[in-house]
Amino acid sequence: MIARIRARHVSSWSAVVVLVFALALATPSRAQDAPQNDLLNAVLWMQRSVEYKATALTAFALARIRLEQALTDPRWTAAPKEQTGNYQALPPAIVLDVDESIVDNSAYQAWMALRDTTFDPKTWNAYVNTVTSQAIPGAVDFARYADARGVKVFYVSNRTAEEEEATRKNLEKLGFPMGGTVDTMLMTKKQPDWGSAKGSRRAHIAKSYRILLNVGDNFGDFVDEYRGTEAERLKVMEEHKDRWGREWIMISNPAYGSFESAPFNHDFKLSPADRRKAKRAVLDPWSGP
Ligand SMILES: [Mg+2]
Repeated sequence: MIARIRARHVSSWSAVVVLVFALALATPSRAQDAPQNDLLNAVLWMQRSVEYKATALTAFALARIRLEQALTDPRWTAAPKEQTGNYQALPPAIVLDVDESIVDNSAYQAWMALRDTTFDPKTWNAYVNTVTSQAIPGAVDFARYADARGVKVFYVSNRTAEEEEATRKNLEKLGFPMGGTVDTMLMTKKQPDWGSAKGSRRAHIAKSYRILLNVGDNFGDFVDEYRGTEAERLKVMEEHKDRWGREWIMISNPAYGSFESAPFNHDFKLSPADRRKAKRAVLDPWSGP
């Protein structure tokens, strides 16, 4: 009898051991099945890290200091190309890009990373219409501070004119100042000459305002020469060396932007595999041990 009970125990323990081994073997294969998407670390940093939030707060704290300096210096302008003539006496304004400069769309990025898919205007538009973009830490307080100081806050975004209504609702919901009687939402293609390069929209603002600050997450938020090679982009960035952290404030965005497409010459017709190959090819590695 005892021997039979023991035998039964041994056999049930064997079953447990087999099950544990089976699970141990199954776990790595499940992990391998998860998409190896290049967005993972960038989205993890933006969505979950305190470092990202602290970086954004740092940028907007600096922006507040620069805004005060700019208000007391009538020669100060953040639009060196577009601000011409006697701009010194014009009322003050600031230019804010929207996506990943003042609002956080990391839910869309996370969806792409987990589904292992790429940007598509259709899915992006569906996301925009959910009106669920979150505020980037420090952005609302900074925009409201500028507005309270009598500075007009313009939103120069490459969201389309069709996306303006949802974007306006989203910004309103988050507490951003909406411009009162002035149309401060300058979406791409809203006027025939407003392409994705933003200079023409800055020129439109500069006719009536002195632009004190420009806040963006992409090189193209500051200059129209952003779609060059990496070497060309570096040259333009260095030409404007003294503007960064002064009248131009860059918000971190490791998830997407012209930095990512420069290695494959912004040729989005290339397959994801070929784009990845080009990105790997520009890395500058240590020779190894
Ligand atoms: Mg942006």
